[in-house]
Amino acid sequence: MKQTILQTDVAIIGGGIAGIVTAIELLDANKKVLIIERDHEKNFGGLAKESFGGMFFVNSPQQKFSKIKDSEEQAKKDWFSFAEFDKNEVWGKKWAAEFITSTQQIYDWVHAKKVKFFPVVHWVERGLAIPGNSVPRFHMVWGTGHGLIEALLKHLKSHPNYKNLKVLFEHKAADFELLNGRIIAINGMDEKNNNPFVCKATDFVVATGGINGNMQKVREHWHKEWQTPPEVILNGSHHFSDGLLHDKLENIGAQISNLNLMWNYAAGIPHPYPKRENHGLSLVPPKSALWLNFKGERIGPSPILTAFDTRHLVTKICEQEKKYSWQLLNKKIAYKELAVSGSEFNEGIKEKKIFKFLYSILKGNKKLIKSLEKDSPNYITANSIEELVQKMNEATGTNDIKLETIKKSIDSYDRNFEEGADMMQDEQIRRIVKAREYTGDKKRTLSPQKLDQKKHYPLIAIREFILSRKSLGGIQTNLQSQVLKIPDAQGQQEVFDNLYAVGEAAGFGGGGSHGKRALEGTFLATCIFTAQKAAAHITNKK
Ligand SMILES: Cc1cc2nc3c(=O)[nH]c(=O)nc-3n(C[C@H](O)[C@H](O)[C@H](O)COP(=O)(O)OP(=O)(O)OC[C@H]3O[C@@H](n4cnc5c(N)ncnc54)[C@H](O)[C@@H]3O)c2cc1C
Repeated sequence: MKQTILQTDVAIIGGGIAGIVTAIELLDANKKVLIIERDHEKNFGGLAKESFGGMFFVNSPQQKFSKIKDSEEQAKKDWFSFAEFDKNEVWGKKWAAEFITSTQQIYDWVHAKKVKFFPVVHWVERGLAIPGNSVPRFHMVWGTGHGLIEALLKHLKSHPNYKNLKVLFEHKAADFELLNGRIIAINGMDEKNNNPFVCKATDFVVATGGINGNMQKVREHWHKEWQTPPEVILNGSHHFSDGLLHDKLENIGAQISNLNLMWNYAAGIPHPYPKRENHGLSLVPPKSALWLNFKGERIGPSPILTAFDTRHLVTKICEQEKKYSWQLLNKKIAYKELAVSGSEFNEGIKEKKIFKFLYSILKGNKKLIKSLEKDSPNYITANSIEELVQKMNEATGTNDIKLETIKKSIDSYDRNFEEGADMMQDEQIRRIVKAREYTGDKKRTLSPQKLDQKKHYPLIAIREFILSRKSLGGIQTNLQSQVLKIPDAQGQQEVFDNLYAVGEAAGFGGGGSHGKRALEGTFLATCIFTAQKAAAHITNKK
C-alpha cells in the first residue's frame, strides 16, 4: 500500500481546543500548520465543544461588576491549598503560578475572538477540610463550550493565513520517527481510506487530550486513596483519549507524570442517548438531595453535597462497600436544582436564548427531567417511600435497600424542620444556607425544607456512578510547553527541542498543574495558555 507523505512547518496532533489555539497562534506567525485529527470533522473542537464552558479568571470585568474582590495572591493561595501538590512536584507548581498571573491576558484573548460571558459568576469548589475558591471565579461562556469552539473556529476559518492550514480528519497518529534523538516525523493511518501516512515537520505539538477515555488506563492508574476502582466507571471523556501517544512518548524517553491524579465525578449516569461506548452523563446533583450509599444510608459522618470538593465526593463513594450511590429528592428539588455539566441539556445558554435560559432557571430544566424520566432506568420516581424502595431494589437486582433505612435517612434530615429543632445542626443544611448567601447560588438552590412532602411528590431516586473525566497528570513540559525527558542519574532533565505537549495531554501544563484538585473552569483556560506558550516558543526560536 502506498504511503502518503506530508510536509509542513508544524504538525499538531489533536484538534481539540488546545490544538486549535496552537494553530491560530501559529497562523498569526505565518507558519504552515497541519492538524492531524482522529475524529470526524463535525466533532472538530474535541471535548471543549461538549463542555459547560466555565472558565476560571481572576479580576475579571464580571467579578468587578458583581463587586467580588479577588486578587492573584488570593487565587494562588486557593489554588495551592486545593492542589495539595506533592512535595516533590516541580513543573506543575511552576505552571500553576504562571497561569494565575496570566488569566487576564487569556480573558482578553478569548474576548477578542468575540466570546462573551454570562454576567453572574459561579462559585464552585469552595473546599471543605481543604480550602478551595474563596470567591466566585467560574465564568460561563454565553453559548457554553459549544459557543466557545464556534467562535474559535470562526476566527480560524476567517484568518488571513487560513490557506496555510490543513486539517486531516479521521487520521490517527500512531508513532514518532526519530533521527539522532530528534523527532523528524509522525506516522499513522488515514482511517477513512485505510491508508498509511507519514508527516514530516520542523516542530510537533501533541494535543491529544488525556487518558481518561481509556477505562483500562483509568483503572491501572487509580489513585490509592480511592482504594480499588469501582466495578462500573462511566466514560465522561473523549473516546480517543486513550493515552496512545503518552505511551509512545514514554517509549522514546519522555517523562510522563501524575497519571494517578484525575478529576473524576461522583454523579454519573449511563447516558440515555449514548454517542460512544460506556458513555456517561455527569449530573450536577442537587444540594438539597440526600446522598445515600448502596444501602440507602446517608453517606457520612458529615453529609456530602456538591460544589465544595469534587474529589472528596469520589473519595467518600469509593470508601463504600459497593461503589455507586443514590440521590434522593422530590419533584420540587429536581425542577429547581437538577442540572447537567456540559453543553448538552443546557439549550438556553447553548443557543444563547436569554428568555429560554432564564425560564429554565425559574421553572427548571424540563427537557432534562422528562428525558431522564422517559429514558433513564437510573432515574426512578414513586408516589410512596415503599414504592420507591421496591423500584430501587428492582433497578439493582438486590435487596440492599431496606424500607426502615430509607425512612431513617429521610427522618435524619426532615426532623431538623420540626418545631423546636435547630436546623443548623445538620451540616448539609448549614452548607445550603451558607451557599444561598451568594446570589448566584440562591437562584439555583431551594431554601432548606423537608424532603418528604406529599405536595412535592413524586419522590425521586437517582442511581449514580463514578464518571471518568479529566487527566490532571500527563506529559511533563517546561514553561515553553516543550516535552521534558526522563531525568538522568544526576537528576538533570533535557528537553526534546522540537516536541511540545499542550492542553490535557500535558496535564494542563507541566504534567500536572492542578495537583490533586482543580478549582474548576481551569481546564479550558489552561488548554489555551499551554497552547499559546508552545506557539510562542516555536515562533520565536532561531
Ligand atoms: C462534558 C464536559 C464538560 C466540561 N466542562 C468544562 C468546563 O466547564 N470548564 C473547563 O475548564 N473544562 C471543562 N471540561 C474539560 C475540558 O473540556 C477539556 O479538558 C478540554 O477541552 C481538553 O482539551 P484538549 O484539546 O486538551 O483535548 P481534547 O478535547 O480531548 O482533544 C484531543 C483531540 O485529539 C484527538 N486525538 C486523540 N488521539 C489522537 C491520535 N492518536 N491521533 C489523532 N488525533 C487524536 C481527539 O480525537 C480529540 O479531538 C469539560 C469536559 C467535558 C467532557
